[in-house]
Amino acid sequence: MSTDGTRAVRLTRWGGPPVITEVARPVPTGEQVLIQVEAAGLCRSDLHVIDAREGALLYRTPFTLGHEVAGRVLERGPGAMGPAVGERVVVYGPWGCGSCARCAVGSENYCDRRTALDADRTGTGAGLGRDGGMADLLLVPSGRLLVPVGELAVVQAAPLSDAGLTAYHAVAGIRRAIDDDASVVVIGVGGLGHLAVQILRATTTARVLAVDVREEALALADQCGAHFATLLRPDSAAVLRDRTGGVGAVAVLDFVGGRSSLDLATGVLRPGGELVVVGSGGGELSVRKPGVLPPGTRISLPFWGTLPELEQVVALAREGVLKVEVEQFALSRALEAIEGLRSGGVRGRAVLVPD
Ligand SMILES: [Zn+2]
Ligand SMILES: [Zn+2]
Repeated sequence: MSTDGTRAVRLTRWGGPPVITEVARPVPTGEQVLIQVEAAGLCRSDLHVIDAREGALLYRTPFTLGHEVAGRVLERGPGAMGPAVGERVVVYGPWGCGSCARCAVGSENYCDRRTALDADRTGTGAGLGRDGGMADLLLVPSGRLLVPVGELAVVQAAPLSDAGLTAYHAVAGIRRAIDDDASVVVIGVGGLGHLAVQILRATTTARVLAVDVREEALALADQCGAHFATLLRPDSAAVLRDRTGGVGAVAVLDFVGGRSSLDLATGVLRPGGELVVVGSGGGELSVRKPGVLPPGTRISLPFWGTLPELEQVVALAREGVLKVEVEQFALSRALEAIEGLRSGGVRGRAVLVPD
């Protein structure tokens, strides 16, 4: 690596594969902040981005991948706010306009100017059309997007910004529906689901029932505090309903979003329940077909999470009640890690560490 260059995992054309290449060292101006990356999580949505057809996503190549990033503040632009040089931070990944009513309260995931940003092909955030953190350095538009992590290990901190935050935001949406004897079903105990189980246990009184297609995911659900975990089978709805005392679950968090997961979700939901679809596994739902959805069902499609929620997720992790299952890879082995995730050979979250 030369002194004026720096490494980055770049998507140079839709359909990939990404390339590890040298890019110019970014210089922060205005309120920008330069981060020395210490860990960058790899997410299933990175595969969706890499595999996307030309025109399928509303941003342009080339850009550096990586939307789950933690590191140290290296340099601040002259107008930068927030954490000081040397402070360890996690980067809030959805980057909105920064000035609308939603962004003003830290909900940049639901920026009011998103349609305009999409029309300009501005990108959704770090590693999503804007240069992300699978790199030695990451230029962040503003210090408002940084949350200090203190002594939390960086490989634990990085996945909090998407896997942790998205799971937390999904749980936040159903919190008011959970009373003392409520059961909540979590479908898919992967990168997000295993954190959702921990968040439900740490912040609610819900009885947590977990489902997955993989035997080893059931062990992980158990380790994360699920009250019951079962393999997805044709009779899963009946098995789970039985575990709710026959009434059904007050909420289902579907981290898969495929056909069989949605079938199970609608089959186990209690009337007046919450169906939260987080995964984008290509499943479809007929909202008015008789017998599909129980009466009173509320459906939500949460996307990522808010800055205040990221602060809460970091606080939970610093208290030690949230532990991310991590498999570590050197940044120079990024392409291997991507293929490992694709073939299902990664346990928990794959995290890249600059070497
Ligand atoms: Zn992600
Ligand atoms: Zn905005």
